[in-house]
Amino acid sequence: MSIIKAKDVTFEYIRRDEEGNVEGITTAVDKVSLDIKQGDFIAILGHNGSGKSTLAKHMNAILYPTEGTLWVDGKDTKDEKELWNIRQSAGMVFQNPDNQIIGQVVEEDVGFGPENMGIPTKEIWERVTESLKAVDMYEYRKHSPNKLSGGQKQRVSIAGVLAMHPKCIILDEPTAMLDPDGRKDVIRAARALNDVEKVTIILITHYMEETIYADRIFVMEEGSVVMEGTPREIFSRVEELKKRRLDVPQVTLLAHELKKRGMDLPDGILTKEELIEALGL
Ligand code: ADP
Ligand code: MG
Repeated sequence: MSIIKAKDVTFEYIRRDEEGNVEGITTAVDKVSLDIKQGDFIAILGHNGSGKSTLAKHMNAILYPTEGTLWVDGKDTKDEKELWNIRQSAGMVFQNPDNQIIGQVVEEDVGFGPENMGIPTKEIWERVTESLKAVDMYEYRKHSPNKLSGGQKQRVSIAGVLAMHPKCIILDEPTAMLDPDGRKDVIRAARALNDVEKVTIILITHYMEETIYADRIFVMEEGSVVMEGTPREIFSRVEELKKRRLDVPQVTLLAHELKKRGMDLPDGILTKEELIEALGL
């Protein structure tokens, strides 16, 4: 079952002058078609300006296509009467944790979403508890969000989305402003939601290491999806990634260099453990 399906989606930002005349058009997303299944863990990679955020904003109907169609859980995002359902099915977490938290106390913040949905109070508290536990932030439920680290704030943001019981969570560079520990905790939380709760995860990131556990990776360039495959397939194409000026996980690169120098190693080694095993150590 598809949770997100795009058919020939194009999006143009149109700049106008004061009189309303068109000054310029940026085609941020250019004929993208993709099909994401319920329960998938998807990573989207690509340079700044390649259209990742614009595409992501289509996935919970913040934007809708200039041309083409995008469906969330079978609902066309252009259908205004489905807007509420779509936003409930697909929640979004953004880069800056400070812009996303509004409550004075962590548990209150996480309760806002379900409260706005008109969920009965008793169930709101159940959802807040389960969501905070799922991201390992339950012990901070009485804390002020201001005092948390960036990684902790992001996990509270994720809990806030989770409390709305979405089928899909889109994370747009959630770790970009975090330190390495914060990054690890956020990714661990996202993976756990996917594994345990079967929430579809769409993770936009610059960090290659965060993508190796994905079911599938999409690489974007100039508004188009230019590579698609499992992490092993994508990271087997080291030369192509280098040509696109994209990073490769360090261990993958090392294995690739050793192989070029004549060692008998498989393509697309993704972890230290795999390399050690392939070396027969
Ligand atoms: P990414 O998230 O991969 O960095 P974006 O989706 O933010 O890419 O941007 C894609 C293209 O659209 C870029 O050329 C960017 O300058 C342009 N763009 C993004 N947001 C806007 C906007 N609000 N108005 C006009 N152009 C925009
Ligand atoms: Mg972006």
